[in-house]
Amino acid sequence: LGMPAVPTKLADRRVSRQIQVGSVAVGGDAPVSVQSMTTTRTSDIGATLQQIAELTASGCQIVRVACPTQDDADALSTIARKSQIPVIADIHFQPKYVFAAIDAGCAAVRVNPGNIKQFDDKVKEIARAAGDAGTPIRIGVNAGSLDARLLQKYGKATPEALVESALWEASLFEEHGFRDIKISVKHNDPVVMVNAYRQLAAQCDYPLHLGVTEAGPAFQGTIKSAVAFGALLSEGIGDTIRVSLSAPPAEEVKVGLQILESLNLKQRRLEIVSCPSCGRAQVDVYKLADQVSAGLEGMEVPLRVAVMGCVVNGPGEAREADLGVASGNGKGQIFVKGEVIKTVPESKIVETLIEEALKIAEQMEKDGVAS
Ligand code: SF4
Repeated sequence: LGMPAVPTKLADRRVSRQIQVGSVAVGGDAPVSVQSMTTTRTSDIGATLQQIAELTASGCQIVRVACPTQDDADALSTIARKSQIPVIADIHFQPKYVFAAIDAGCAAVRVNPGNIKQFDDKVKEIARAAGDAGTPIRIGVNAGSLDARLLQKYGKATPEALVESALWEASLFEEHGFRDIKISVKHNDPVVMVNAYRQLAAQCDYPLHLGVTEAGPAFQGTIKSAVAFGALLSEGIGDTIRVSLSAPPAEEVKVGLQILESLNLKQRRLEIVSCPSCGRAQVDVYKLADQVSAGLEGMEVPLRVAVMGCVVNGPGEAREADLGVASGNGKGQIFVKGEVIKTVPESKIVETLIEEALKIAEQMEKDGVAS
């Protein structure tokens, strides 16, 4: 007998083919990876590499760079060589840049079939060049640039239209024996997007790159992406994700990582379990939670720290966490692994929590629990 096992995930992953984007495997049993895209001019090699370094430091695993001009195409080989993470060239309109990106050693190339004129005629050559170089292709269908033929057929960018566009392009590659493909079907409406990916997932075994396109400013975009990715990932759909925000790309990575951690698809790092406060609170919970978050920022170990405003739920939650505080009467009871280790005055709560967190983190690192 004993306690029933608590499920740690929501669904099994959909079985997809695995492709290799440089050093990062995408699909199959590979962990869901987080991507972002640079906002610099790609031709400005120094600025682009600087931003890639920042993205890498924030936990980004694959980076995409735009390639709208010949100068950008010329910069690709240096960027691909010097980047710490795989670089995907993002190509719209000009098939010649697809070849340039493959020649430059990019880890993959994203093409938008709706935007590349005479793309259908070029597929044979692209399939051959990409196949020879071992470069995967992302077929990136976007609601805003859907193939004119499909727009006419469906009237607007419906899930069916997005999926038909993607699978049509994939079939052109398949005719030439090329299946080193991943697919995205992005839409700015999470409901349309989720339905599109569900249909796509049922109709092919290619790995899927999830994205809500033009999701908006940070707050709205974060919610839209979390809701849409959450729905899909909880059904096992999705192999790599990109959160699109009108905000610096490192923010996108932060949100993407947090989404994966929330779903247990990535090992959780620091987690602050703080109460929303209420009329019973005997301490300024917001301030305390902010101060503890700031004090522990950057900690890589999966530490759960509870910050509770009173003794009603406080001790219970604080006991469930690795470390916690329950406040009351101008004091804080500090818990470590369920035991009250000390009671300190309110003014000492933050420094005591940080001190204890560092001790636990050190022990976790010694025990090899670090993510
Ligand atoms: Fe309110 Fe206490 Fe619960 Fe915080 S822990 S929400 S202060 S009852």
